[in-house]
Amino acid sequence: MGMGFTFKCSKCGYELEANMGFGYLFPQVTEETIKDMKSGKYGETAEKFFQENPDGSVDCSNELFLCKKCGALKVDMALDLYKRKEGVAEPKYPFPDEEYFSKAMEIDHICEKCGNKMEKQNERQFLKKVQNGKARCPDCDGHLELADFFNWD
Ligand SMILES: [Zn+2]
Ligand SMILES: [Zn+2]
Repeated sequence: MGMGFTFKCSKCGYELEANMGFGYLFPQVTEETIKDMKSGKYGETAEKFFQENPDGSVDCSNELFLCKKCGALKVDMALDLYKRKEGVAEPKYPFPDEEYFSKAMEIDHICEKCGNKMEKQNERQFLKKVQNGKARCPDCDGHLELADFFNWD
């Protein structure tokens, strides 16, 4: 079960519903994403990674990304790539559990608005920024407020 937040700009009405973490479909999503990466749907870097690490994994939990250039926000799967650790038992699920996997690389998240690379935000720090009125609205010069939070699954 994940935690969800609704961020809202009181000035222009911009709203972002952010379902963070992961829900109950996580195992299926992880397996499908690995399959898609192996078939090249996520680009060359991921395809090549799984050619070299066929028993690797990918982090499909949701994270918040911010474009430092234009201020755009989006929620997306982290998509960090993980290698199997040596000398560990076969994992029950392909989760990037730290007991079985270690992080090998990150995939770039590109801003749909301006093409710049987006930065992964630390959830707690971003919430703090919102609470302190320091999270800029992507659409105007207002700032974001926490309008709601909820559990999702
Ligand atoms: Zn706004
Ligand atoms: Zn941008």
